[in-house]
Parts: sequence; C-alpha cells; structure tokens
Amino acid sequence: MRPRRPHNLLDSPDSRPRPYPNIPLDAFAFPAFDLVPTADYTAEVISGGLPLPGPCGMVLAARGCTYGCTFCHLPFGTRMRNQPLDRVLAEIGAQQAAGLEFVFFLDYVFGINRTFYGELCERLRGRGLGWVGQTRAEIVLKSDVSQWARAGCQGMWLGAESPAIAGTGVRKRVSEEQISQAVIKLRDAGIVPFAFVLMGLPDDEACVSGRLVDWAAGLPAWFGINQLYLRPGTTLYDQLAPAHNGGRTPTTWREVQEVTRHYRATYPADLDAQQQRLTELPNYLGNAIVPAAG
Ligand code: SF4
Repeated sequence: MRPRRPHNLLDSPDSRPRPYPNIPLDAFAFPAFDLVPTADYTAEVISGGLPLPGPCGMVLAARGCTYGCTFCHLPFGTRMRNQPLDRVLAEIGAQQAAGLEFVFFLDYVFGINRTFYGELCERLRGRGLGWVGQTRAEIVLKSDVSQWARAGCQGMWLGAESPAIAGTGVRKRVSEEQISQAVIKLRDAGIVPFAFVLMGLPDDEACVSGRLVDWAAGLPAWFGINQLYLRPGTTLYDQLAPAHNGGRTPTTWREVQEVTRHYRATYPADLDAQQQRLTELPNYLGNAIVPAAG
C-alpha cells in the first residue's frame, strides 16, 4: 500500500485544491517593458562568436517540460502550456522597442514541440533579433537547427549535466554520444554551444572518478557549473532527504539546507576541489565573460 503522508499542496495532482479555472495565457497583463531600464539587465550575449555580458531581455514561449528528470523542479508537473505566438511576438517586439537587440528564451526545452517552435522560428526571421535558448541534446539531433539560426539563434544551452547522466537513475537518459553530436551539430550551424554541467548526481561514475573534468575540457562548447542542490518538491529530494536528515523528512528550512550540505559532504568525491579544477578550464564560461582587466 502507498505510504500515507500528511496532506500538503505538493501531494498528488488529484488532491490539490482547484479553486480557479486556468486563465487563458493571452489574458495575462502585458508587461510594461517601457518602464524597465532594460540596459541594466545583462546576461551572456553573443558578439563575434563569443559570449560576452550585455543587455538581454527574456521571453517564455512555452512553460513547463514533459520530461521528468528527478532533480528538476517542475511546479506544473510534466504538463506544458504554449503561449499564443502573437503574444510571444508582441512581447519580443515590446522589448526591441525598449532598446533590446538580444533575448534569452527561458523555455525549458526549446524545440520540444516541432510544429510550435517551427512556426515561431519562421516568424522570428528578419526581425533583427539575436537570442540564446536552452534545450536537450536529443531535441537538437531531431531539429532543423539551421532554421533556428536563420531565426536569430546565436547560442544554445544543453542540459548536458554529465557524460554518465544516463546511468545515474535520475530519468535523464541522454548518452555521451548524443551530447557530443548535439554540440557539433549546433556549432556547424553557426550556433555557439553551451553545456550545463551538474556535479554530484547520485552514482555518477564520471563525477566520482573525476572523468567529468576531462570530459568538460574536451567539449567543443562553453560550459557552466552547478553542484546538485536537493530541492523540496523534486522526486530526488523525496528519495534522498531523509537519509541526510537522521532518517526523518525535514520540517524546517534549516534542515532542508542541512540535507544538501550533508549530501555534498558525504559524496564519494571532493566536489569543491573538482569544481575548482573545472573553473580553471579555458572553456569554462566564467573565463570567457570576465571583462578583460585594464
Ligand atoms: S532537467 Fe530539463 S529536460 Fe529534465 S525535467 Fe528539467 S527542464 Fe525538463
């Protein structure tokens, strides 16, 4: 029998209160971009084929993700909602009118719906907009990335995480070969590839052995790093938190924080030392975007 837990808002979708119907996305208030000092908000933009800090807007064409990687926080479960394309284009137009030439597509998996994103890319052509997005390796391999490039895509992040991610039991079955092919496919299309690296996944052979560093060094891509944080609301947290909190589910934020501290401290590799080695690599993104001294 399924163990009973105290009722809370993160219980199964059927037990959630449903006081309000879904609001049509095009009925949301339109952001007043003209009131925002857009030039003050920066992110990595691409200039001359290199990532540099620069003014960057943000747009979300579709929210949610249908994959269910257990370390990922998906507040809407594995459901997705696409914004009407007219609304997406209007938000981009308003940001361009406010002086921005570059935006970041915050969509979790750009290209996941080929029809929706294909139409979006066709409508982005010729607008003079540069953009960076984020996606998964298999989506890159299935997509016409030259269409993305023609639509202004200049950089694309891959949730690569680790060359051994498929064997870590976090429900992200992407092979090392797929990551490598996706990076090359993007690069060949003129899109700067970026890889998210996630250190400290459970039973990650590459992280435990230190192979992760050599793999990252050999990627023809820029990469950014995070150490795994066990976040309440994720399946991985439910699986691992009690073991790192004296056998009990945490009940305070201090205990939540302690779970991750204890997890990292007992991980069978020195994550801080490995992170230090990663940050010394020339393709670590932090080494690309630090403004030159003098
Ligand atoms: S890590 Fe990426 S692919 Fe996996 S569930 Fe989260 S957003 Fe989706």
